[in-house]
Amino acid sequence: MPDYPQPRQFIAGEWQQAHRASAAAVTNPATGELLAEVPRATIQDLDDALAASDRAFHVWRDKSAAERASILKRTGELLRERAPALAREMTLEQGKTISEAEGEFKFAGDVFEWNAFEGMRTYGRVIPSRVPGSRQMVLIEPLGPIAAFTPWNFPAGIPARKIASALAAGCSMILKPSEETPASVMAIAQALADAGLPDGVFNIVFGVPSEVSNRLIGSPIVRKVHFTGSTGIGRHLALLAAQGLKPCTLELGGHAPVLVFDDADFDKAVATCLAGKIRNAGQVCTSPTRFLIQDGIYDAFVARFGEALDGVAVGSGLDRNNQMGALANSRRLEVMEDLTGDAIRYGGRLVCGGVRGGDKGYFWRPSLVADVPGSAKAMHTEPFGPLAFARRFSSLQEGVEEANSLPYGLAAYVFTQSAATAATVANELQAGGVGINTFTLSAPEAPFCGVKDSGYGAEGGPEGLQAFTHTKFVHHVL
Ligand code: NAD
Repeated sequence: MPDYPQPRQFIAGEWQQAHRASAAAVTNPATGELLAEVPRATIQDLDDALAASDRAFHVWRDKSAAERASILKRTGELLRERAPALAREMTLEQGKTISEAEGEFKFAGDVFEWNAFEGMRTYGRVIPSRVPGSRQMVLIEPLGPIAAFTPWNFPAGIPARKIASALAAGCSMILKPSEETPASVMAIAQALADAGLPDGVFNIVFGVPSEVSNRLIGSPIVRKVHFTGSTGIGRHLALLAAQGLKPCTLELGGHAPVLVFDDADFDKAVATCLAGKIRNAGQVCTSPTRFLIQDGIYDAFVARFGEALDGVAVGSGLDRNNQMGALANSRRLEVMEDLTGDAIRYGGRLVCGGVRGGDKGYFWRPSLVADVPGSAKAMHTEPFGPLAFARRFSSLQEGVEEANSLPYGLAAYVFTQSAATAATVANELQAGGVGINTFTLSAPEAPFCGVKDSGYGAEGGPEGLQAFTHTKFVHHVL
């Protein structure tokens, strides 16, 4: 396939030879065509990556924070410069629009730059001692080699958050990205190498996910597990990590409620909900999915939101006229069909969509189902696609109770012009992030985290970097 790189593993600073056993096929979700085959790590590959990350950890940890910062800052610059060219590869492998892909590489660049400087501020502290002539210090140290696992929905943005914070803290890393979107993370590895990262500090392996995670997490070399993906796999990896008493950061699924109050700015709320819903074809862990709309505007909002979703241009992400690209894989298409059909069978009213788009590729029309009973599968299964389900509420308390009724707790949103309503609801919502009149909850400098079944630990912001460190207490009698 022209313009699409051959997937390779990156171990100890070397791109491995192609022509290895295949773990999976990479397909273009807009056409269903084969793009490439992804290599399958052997046990020897995984052990080589473990040894490389162990050796490199000592080299990297001992560099000055300023030296690490300079390499990470340069990586960020390279990713931003290369974003237009790299965006095409991401669209080919993942399906999102090319402007979203370009924005994602720029975001990844910003994440590297922000962490570069934050790494220079990992301050410890001096504690006044009770013992005369002694000094008590708290040192902040990197944890060690990290095993990280990332999904296919943001194939550059999610790896960038993990890699940049870990490396800024002084850790090394072995990453198993999604086998479905290998090129984006390979581009990050190349930028790191071009920026002068010592060999082995960052490694990429691909393969059968369970084989890779068993070997890496089971190794005494790995000191922490960092995962983004589904709640089920997160739980499984946390159990594996627990056997070696290794800490985890888990960024898992969600089913985000949106409370739209009668006093919301109607036009702005509709426009924001439209943009939020179709972003990355809804394949975002914080995607708004349960639209809880207050009685007074329910009918009008459902009608206008439905019209807006119905007007979305869906098609190849390479065509800049399209607002929404293909779903990333055929599994998502099956889930869209299942959840929409189930919601309608339970008595939901299809307002728009509910059908595939085009006759090839994995396209699904943005869909809105209104009046969905709470018992329908759609109201408690994460859609992870361009589906919106609407239900009405009367009082603030009723809305908040429904919003909090699921085991998930990643993102929640409120649309209102009342500062009092916004403050009360933001306090009451059980979620790691709350957007008030916005769906933007992700920034390099801000923590991103879930509660309940959406995981634990933060990535991004100072909290994200801190998650790759431990404290050491030193008592020095002079
Ligand atoms: P999945 O759970 O099978 O895979 C998710 C990711 O986990 C993939 O990258 C996969 O390679 C990895 N994985 C799977 N088994 C693993 C193992 N044993 N060890 C290590 N890594 C493993 O799901 P999927 O079909 O790819 O996506 C469906 C669901 O995943 C969605 O409904 C959504 O809940 C979730 N998801 C969440 C995010 C997120 O950002 N939180 C991203 C992608 C997918």
